[in-house]
Amino acid sequence: MDKFDVCIAGAGVVGLAIAYQLSKSARYANASIVLLEREPSFGQITSSRNSEVIHAGIYYATDSLKANLCVAGKKLLYDHLQKFELPHRKLGKLIVAQKTEEEALEAVKEKAHENGVTDLCWIDTHQLRKLEPEVRGHAALLSPSTGIIDSHSYMQNLLNLAESQGVIFASRSEVIAVHQEPKSFLINTVLTHTHGLEPYDFHCTEFINCAGLNAQELALKTEGMNPKYVPRLHLCKGDYFSYSGGSPFSHLIYPMPEANHIGLGIHSTIDIAGQLRFGPDTEFVDNQSYAIDAGKSNRFVNSIKRYFPTVDPAKLHPSYAGIRPKIVGPEDDAGDFQIQDSSIHGIKGLVQLFGMESPALTASLAIGEYVIDQMNREARR
Ligand SMILES: Cc1cc2nc3c(=O)[nH]c(=O)nc-3n(C[C@H](O)[C@H](O)[C@H](O)COP(=O)(O)OP(=O)(O)OC[C@H]3O[C@@H](n4cnc5c(N)ncnc54)[C@H](O)[C@@H]3O)c2cc1C
Repeated sequence: MDKFDVCIAGAGVVGLAIAYQLSKSARYANASIVLLEREPSFGQITSSRNSEVIHAGIYYATDSLKANLCVAGKKLLYDHLQKFELPHRKLGKLIVAQKTEEEALEAVKEKAHENGVTDLCWIDTHQLRKLEPEVRGHAALLSPSTGIIDSHSYMQNLLNLAESQGVIFASRSEVIAVHQEPKSFLINTVLTHTHGLEPYDFHCTEFINCAGLNAQELALKTEGMNPKYVPRLHLCKGDYFSYSGGSPFSHLIYPMPEANHIGLGIHSTIDIAGQLRFGPDTEFVDNQSYAIDAGKSNRFVNSIKRYFPTVDPAKLHPSYAGIRPKIVGPEDDAGDFQIQDSSIHGIKGLVQLFGMESPALTASLAIGEYVIDQMNREARR
């Protein structure tokens, strides 16, 4: 039976970044690493259904994993994108407050400062008009370090780099169960071929569960995993509407975030090709359907109108949707990433990642470093 040192389940941006970081880390230089993905290619689920924004790290609870890994990850990501000449733009973002929201905007600035984001500039209504003539607001914060990324190019680059360092990538390969054996795991997978399904089992010493929306399901198929450490999954869908014609904005435009930071408000982003889109909204759902309700258009128009009064409803078209793998429900406080090693769940060699919602794209390289630190610490214990 084949044996690998490390198996990573899930080749979204998080699994890819971990594979890349592992492949260039000293302790894993000669390790055999396999990255398994159940879809026909990498990054087809949440990692290709998001806003593609490089977040500054403004809103998250201070000292949370989200705050720390976003701020660290943003720097690593910009350096990486520059080094490998990958498509991205540091456009800057404006968080626009209306008259009653000025105090809340000040609180956002303070929170950002506590998180180490010290470059936000206060913009008054006149400066806002100059920067963005189509935008209306009482005041705004300019975040110069916020940007956009072509997430597909980034993920392809991570995969190329990891493979060039010896990582084996297998798509159409679903992990269906993880068994504990003395000093290793027995992994059961199913490979999808054109002629049918084929079971394939192998051993590995360390196993990393990066299955995104399926992380909980996979954790519960891991022998010995106490369900009390598996946080409940709350699916929170976000729909996008594209806006035809050229973008009237030169920055990313965000309203004030929603209560409990469930979402960041229906904002405008521009993709790397210049297409303007609005979204995502927030809707807790009970299945993983990506269908978009075109009837939401009116609700979108009403939200957008608050900061872009001349929005033309005829230019809004249903575009795509993503689903946030939240581990908190609509009434709870904002949740954090959960990156669990044996100090939490007691299973040596197992790392599980839950609740990897925004800003995990921005934070991906820092998440990779964090997981490797955990694995190195565990090896020393
Ligand atoms: C609407 C929305 C907007 C967002 N906007 C931003 C943003 O602007 N900036 C930002 O930084 N972040 C953003 N995010 C967050 C970001 O997109 C995600 O955090 C990130 O893509 C998660 O990556 P992942 O690898 O954990 O998950 P995924 O991309 O879902 O990857 C998990 C992979 O595991 C595979 N898999 C599942 N089960 C198995 C199995 N049993 N065996 C093998 N493979 C398996 C899946 O097929 C999938 O490819 C947004 C998210 C959403 C939903």
